[in-house]
Formats: sequence, C-alpha cells, structure tokens
Amino acid sequence: MSKMYGGPGGMGFNKLKFDDGAKPNITKAMLARIASYFIPYWKQTIIVLLILLVSSGLGLLPPIFIQHIVDDALPNKDMGLLVELVLISLAATVASGLIGVLQSYLNSYISQNIVYDMKNQMYRHLQQMPLQFYSNVKQGEVITRMTSDIAGIQGVFSSTVVNFSSNLFILATTLGTLFFMNWKLAILGMLVVPLFIMPTRKMGRVRWNIAKQTQEKMSDQNHIIQETLSISGYLLMKLFTKEQKEFDGFTTVNAESTRLQIRESMAGRWFMMVLSTFTTIGPMLIYLYGGYLFIQGEITIGAIISFVALLGRIYGPVGQLTNLYVDINRSVALFERIFDYFDMEPVIVNKPKALPVNISRQDIVFEDVGFAYHRDKPALQHISFTAVAGTMTALVGPSGAGKTTITNLLPRLYERSSGSIRIGSTDIYDMTLESLRSQIGLVTQDSYLFNGTIRENLMYANDGASEEEMENACKAAYIHDFIMGLPDGYDTVVGNRGMKLSGGEKQRISIARVLLKNPAIIVMDEATSSLDTVSEYYIQKAMSVLLQDKTSIVIAHRLSTIMAADHILVVQDGTIVEEGKHDELLELGGVYKDLHAKQFERKSFTESP
Ligand code: ADP
Repeated sequence: MSKMYGGPGGMGFNKLKFDDGAKPNITKAMLARIASYFIPYWKQTIIVLLILLVSSGLGLLPPIFIQHIVDDALPNKDMGLLVELVLISLAATVASGLIGVLQSYLNSYISQNIVYDMKNQMYRHLQQMPLQFYSNVKQGEVITRMTSDIAGIQGVFSSTVVNFSSNLFILATTLGTLFFMNWKLAILGMLVVPLFIMPTRKMGRVRWNIAKQTQEKMSDQNHIIQETLSISGYLLMKLFTKEQKEFDGFTTVNAESTRLQIRESMAGRWFMMVLSTFTTIGPMLIYLYGGYLFIQGEITIGAIISFVALLGRIYGPVGQLTNLYVDINRSVALFERIFDYFDMEPVIVNKPKALPVNISRQDIVFEDVGFAYHRDKPALQHISFTAVAGTMTALVGPSGAGKTTITNLLPRLYERSSGSIRIGSTDIYDMTLESLRSQIGLVTQDSYLFNGTIRENLMYANDGASEEEMENACKAAYIHDFIMGLPDGYDTVVGNRGMKLSGGEKQRISIARVLLKNPAIIVMDEATSSLDTVSEYYIQKAMSVLLQDKTSIVIAHRLSTIMAADHILVVQDGTIVEEGKHDELLELGGVYKDLHAKQFERKSFTESP
C-alpha cells in the first residue's frame, strides 16, 4: 500500500479501495498504533476491566447458591435459609446489572471519544493534503472515510476489548469453579467444547467474507451517487441523456448489495441450529455421569444442578472467543484503511525553519523551474522569468501548454521538482505557507463560490471587513450595482458553486473577494468563456482596478489584456518559447505572431489547441 504522496509520479490514491478479501496485516507496530488511540482513556479502560471482573464473579453466585437451595434449604425445609439464598442471588443479579450500566456508559464514552479524536485528526490531515490528492481521489471516498470508516471505530472497543476480557473472565472464573467442585464432571463437560469450535470458526469466516463484499458494494453505490447526483455529474448525465444507463448501473450495484446483506444475515443460521443441539449434549452427559455419581453417593443433587447451570456459562464465551479473530480482523482492517489516509503525508508543509515574510513590492523570480505531474512526463521545463514588482506579466499560449501549472507553483499548490522560485530574495520554500498564501490572491477561471449568500462568499476573504469595505470592493469590481439589483441584494443565495450567477458575474464577485483580501500578488486566470461585450467591458475594468500597482501574473486570453501587460511570456509544450512586449513579439514573427493571427479576427486571444 502506498504510504506516501510522493509528488510527481508517486500517487497511490487509487489503491485505497477496500482490499479484496485480503486479511489485514496485523503487526506489533500496527497494534501499538491502534493502542495509542486508547491510551488517553486508560483510566476508564481499567475501570471497565474491573467491572467485567467483578460481574463475572457476581454471575457465579446464583448457580452456586442453587446447590445450597437444593441440598440444604429444601431437604431441611428451612424457609429462612431459602429466602436468604434467593435474596442473595437476586442481589448479585441486580448488582451486576447496575455496574453493567456504568460499564455501558464508559464503553460509549471511550468509543465516542476515540471517534472524536480521529475525526478531528482526519479533518486536519485532509485539509493539508495537496491539490493533487483531490484531483486523484474518487468522488465520495473522502466522505466515506470521514463518516462510515471512522464511525465503524466506535464498535471496536466493545467488540474487541470488552468482548475479549469479559469472555475470558467468565470462562476463567467458571472453569475454576467447575474444577474446584468436581474435576471429573468438569472434564466431561469440556468434552463437547471442540464440537462447536469448528463450526463457529467456519461460520465466522463466511460472515467475514460476506461482510467485506457488502462493504465494497456499498462503497461502489456511494461512488455512483456522488458522481451522478452532484451538480456537474448531474448536468453531464442529463445532457448526454444517460439517466437510464446510470439508473441501470445503480440498480445492479444496489441489487448485489441487497443480495449480500440478506446472505449476511442468513449466514450461519444452519450452524446456529447445529450448535444449539451440541450445547444440549453437555448437560445430558452431566446428568448421566453425575446421576451415576449421585447413585454411588459421591455427589449431591444440588451439585448436579449447579454444575449444569455453571456449564451454561462456558459455551457462550468459548464460541465468542473462537470468533474473536473475526472482530479483531475487522477492527484492524478499519484502522488500516484510516491509517492509509493518515500515512499519505501532505508533502506541502512548512520547512522546519520557514519564516513569515512580507512579500509586498518584490519581484517574483522563476529560475530554471521544472515540474512533472507524472514521473516520466515533464509538464514544465527550464522555466525562467522575472515578474517585476508592480507590473503585470501575461502568460499566453495554446491550451495544455503549462500556463496554469506555472501559476499553481507560486502559491505552492504543487511543488516544483527543480529550480527555484523566489519572491524578492527569499525562496518560497523558506516562507511559511500561511504568509505566502495570505499575500497571494488567486482568481481562477471557474470562480468557486460556495452555496451561501453573496456577502458570506465575499467575507470569506476577510472576516474583519466592514460593510463599507465590502461594498467598495464590489464597486471597484463593477459588480455592486448588479448585486443591488438582485431581490435580496448582498443576501442573495448563489446556489451550489454559484450556479445562479453567470460566468462573468461570478468572476467579478471573485475579483471583489480578492480585492477585499488585498494581497500583494495577484495570480489570475482570465475567463475563456465568451462573454458579451458588456460583461467583458466590466471585467476588463474590474481587472484593471484589481491589478493596479500590484505584481500580477495573468493567464491572458484576450487581446486587450495582453496589450495592457508589461511583459508577455509565450508558453508552449511546457517551456517559455518567446518573451517581450506585444509589438516586439509580433515583429519576431514566431509562435506569438501565429497565435495572434489565428485569434485576431475574433478580437480576443482565446486558446486554440
Ligand atoms: P494550460 O493552463 O496552459 O492550458 P496546464 O498547465 O493546465 O495547461 O496543463 C499542462 C499539462 O499538464 C497538460 O498536458 C495537462 O494535461 C497536464 N495536467 C494539468 N493538470 C494535471 C493534473 N492535475 N494531473 C496530471 N496532469 C495534469
């Protein structure tokens, strides 16, 4: 299993599917790691163990007192003793019930707190995963891991620790008592134990396999739901009229998981029937041989009855202990799935000596930068340029040339594989991620707005901004009047991913959002979607306000933007092939001139492959 998100080529996220039927790898290190989650709750765990020990002792009392009732109280017609013995037995039962309540509370206290700790840890960890992780991971997998996998942990404590200890205590105390009472009868009672160890084991294995298959099917089902019933998937499905195909796919998976769940609940019913027959054989043997010993005058009737009652306490725990490995495997597998996520180290973290740095009014320098998404296929090679402080640098070139990749390296959404990137004299690796990112404003093509009000979306950039600052930013981004024209103004809900707004409106809102953040550096991917002239006019105006006096790198698709740029870099096949000003580049008569010629008639510089 891949343990490391290893930058280029080192992605193993797709391997994270549930291992098909493979047993988890139970090592000492693994167990120690699991135990580390229980350590904060060791006090509660000890109390639980003590309770289990006490209640296994208390459970012995009623069967033992039966002997005295039958042998002493009844033959002597001693009503006082009879009442006394019955009351003591009753008290023992009530006492063990009472401490059982405390034990249930502690069980769920420990389990839920472990779940709480793990969820927090997982959320923190997922926040730190690199962008690449989210492009690779299956839709819905993150949610499954956060919810059902971690939620599964809550059963682990009771199904393993409690189960094991309580069965062990009951078995040990009962066996001790049986042998103490009569070792010959005890051995006889034990004779049937092997009879049901085998079927129990077999049954456990069958159920374990079915449970695994069920889980896989459930995860497939979740995947289909996530893919087709999310906004983009839904659109795709509708536009290609694939409803029936998707429905058929869903029905198939749903039918399989239903079939498996029925099988799971039925598995072992036959074994159970056989087992219950075996459990009656033991007492029969005791009556037979015990009866013989009674006739011989060796033991009393009370002893036989008491013995049979005690024997009943053996079979249950033996069966459960035999199947304990199923629970342990299941629990370890759960932890393993979660640990696999924890072990994908977020590569993009602060260097040990990283410092917060002020990067305003500093040049951005790329020096011989290389990057690859996949090991053998470089996406960028030998990228060197300087974006002078306070100026606008435009990136142009065909689609897939590597422009977005260049801009993503600056805020360290991806890590360069070679070369250096500096702001001023400081390498971005020597700055804290927080100080770097808080000073870079990113306007992407598909501006992401979350499903909330326009105000909430704007304030995300700067919680402390006043209403006036917010409105000023929107005025500067030429979107204020539009917002005020909406029925609910700034309180208008934008819908999932801002669906209720046009592309141009979304981009102007996201420009306003960056204005509110007021970073030193702006990285912008101009929208390629064709905008009407009015929208385009407003976006241009908003952009010029945004970029004023800022150091900016803009992926430019429009001639007007390119003309406004101080410096143009022409990117092709992952390298910079030409650079200069518009006129110089035209004069050069190379790639830029071609691109320009192709796009000029449309008066924009939109991409063409
Ligand atoms: P541009 O912005 O110039 O259109 P990109 O920087 O998006 O180009 O892409 C450059 C190359 O890297 C393309 O070949 C693209 O297919 C590839 N690429 C982009 N993003 C990823 C990714 N997340 N994983 C793998 N390859 C990618």
